[in-house]
Amino acid sequence: MLGIQGAEVQGVHRRGKYILLPLLGQGLEAQTLILHLGMSGGMSVQPRTQPTHPLVRHTFSLNDGRELRFEDGRKFGKIWLVSDPGEVLPPLSPEPLEGGLTPQLLAQSLEGRKAPIKALLLEQSIVAGMGNLYADESLFLAGINPTRSAAGLSGEEIDRLQQSIVNALTASIEKYENARDESWPDPPRALTGWSHPRTEGAPCPRCNGPFTGTRVRARGTYYCPSCQP
Ligand SMILES: [Zn+2]
Repeated sequence: MLGIQGAEVQGVHRRGKYILLPLLGQGLEAQTLILHLGMSGGMSVQPRTQPTHPLVRHTFSLNDGRELRFEDGRKFGKIWLVSDPGEVLPPLSPEPLEGGLTPQLLAQSLEGRKAPIKALLLEQSIVAGMGNLYADESLFLAGINPTRSAAGLSGEEIDRLQQSIVNALTASIEKYENARDESWPDPPRALTGWSHPRTEGAPCPRCNGPFTGTRVRARGTYYCPSCQP
């Protein structure tokens, strides 16, 4: 990519769904390469001799014989090169796994909001990094119906929800890391292991009753009407 030849990657950071690589190079201004994986993208560093996956759209050569590869089968991914990441990043809540998304802050963000809780969990300014399946998992763990109005949740339910968000994300990362390590160098593109089923009528792992499928703001949503009243 023009303008970054010779630049050194200073680190690899994540903010919400964005991956940030700050770059520095002699005679170059400080810049940040920002990547968003979209729905099914992937990023990996692999030896140049490793065959390139057919869905790789961009490669960046590293000086140690390896390549940074950006894979993007559905072409929803994006790459930016900016001097100020603020030009790209939308408003984001504190990171749920770094302790900043407290139950108090979550309660504040949801206060007076009448929209379904599921829809609000997907707003990145409320829960940075939250995706559709993770939201369903968090609500299942918390025993909260995804279609309920956020304004109607009790303080105790919001506490439970905050803890469930942390638990769902932590468990998912662990599962993904195991799957990645087992199948390296061809890691899975997405995580598929959830404690809630994603099939209408499938038995609930808690009560064995049938799961319900619906749409909340056009996003596929699955829940147990008994465990998530
Ligand atoms: Zn159930």
